[in-house]
Amino acid sequence: MRLPVEATWNIPEVSDGFSTYSCLEPWDIKGELFYVGMDETGKDVIEFSGCVRTVLRMACDRCLRQVDIPLAVDIRQRFVKGEKTDSSTSDYDFDYLPIVNDVIDLEDVIHYDVQLNIPAKVLCKEDCLGLCPICGKNLNEGLCECEEDFSDPRWDALKNLL
Ligand SMILES: [Zn+2]
Ligand SMILES: [Zn+2]
Repeated sequence: MRLPVEATWNIPEVSDGFSTYSCLEPWDIKGELFYVGMDETGKDVIEFSGCVRTVLRMACDRCLRQVDIPLAVDIRQRFVKGEKTDSSTSDYDFDYLPIVNDVIDLEDVIHYDVQLNIPAKVLCKEDCLGLCPICGKNLNEGLCECEEDFSDPRWDALKNLL
């Protein structure tokens, strides 16, 4: 038995723990829940398999220009049905989350996986020239005159004095 899961979440922003990024598109979630079978202790195992898509607004690592990064995150998560044991949650590793009160909580899983998949480095283009470290000009828009300053004859005159 397979149960399709389709949802659209309006989530304005997401954080990777360091920075917060705007989500330009609502999170588009498509996937399915299906029955896997029983685990070794006789508990029912249900799996969610799907994909979440959105578009994040991030800043280029080199020139700080805003870039829109499409994100598509594949998610697979298994859930185990049954009473949680009193002792602890040690029965469950992250691969098998408990189903509590007959509810499969996809929200945390999806949030967590999206956060994990936010790219650490973003470039506006492969060969982004970045900013001039001296004047701060965006070198993609044309070279600045900082380097030329060093070859200025007036500098040579100064060097001769030293
Ligand atoms: Zn750039
Ligand atoms: Zn410069």
